[in-house]
Amino acid sequence: MPYRIERRTADPATADFETVVRATLADTRGWRQGGFDIREDRAAEFTVVLAEPDDAQQMCRPMDVYSRYSCQNGPLVVINADRWRTATPEWTADLASYREMLVNHEFGHLLGRRHVPCGPAGTPAPVMCQQSTELRGALPNPWPLPAEIVAAAAHDRPLAPLPGE
Ligand SMILES: [Zn+2]
Repeated sequence: MPYRIERRTADPATADFETVVRATLADTRGWRQGGFDIREDRAAEFTVVLAEPDDAQQMCRPMDVYSRYSCQNGPLVVINADRWRTATPEWTADLASYREMLVNHEFGHLLGRRHVPCGPAGTPAPVMCQQSTELRGALPNPWPLPAEIVAAAAHDRPLAPLPGE
């Protein structure tokens, strides 16, 4: 899984984007556990992009992210710069862990993982549940749960799916 990083905004508040993405994807608590060789490569097609809201909306088409959310669209992981700066009102942990969750969630889509329910209140949410808006008492969690790693390790889904695939 070679990937590159592209920051399409000059906002100094997002200056740590590259560092956080790199560290999150290299972390041993992450998707690497599923047997993916995730490594940075400047020539890679898979790209983790930070984009301002209207730019993100364009890059996510035909999906509608209301200029507000992030997405994965084919080879692109598009992180909305507004979410990078402020998380969401529904997020109950700190901004640093929101950013890790966002990277792991959207990169999970790139690996073919789909949404799952957030689970009961008081238990750690799967990283592939929609924690930006759907936590509802589940505990914020930036890392794939053991069951999510097991599922991903089957390598049974196409990488970089397009919307609807
Ligand atoms: Zn998602």
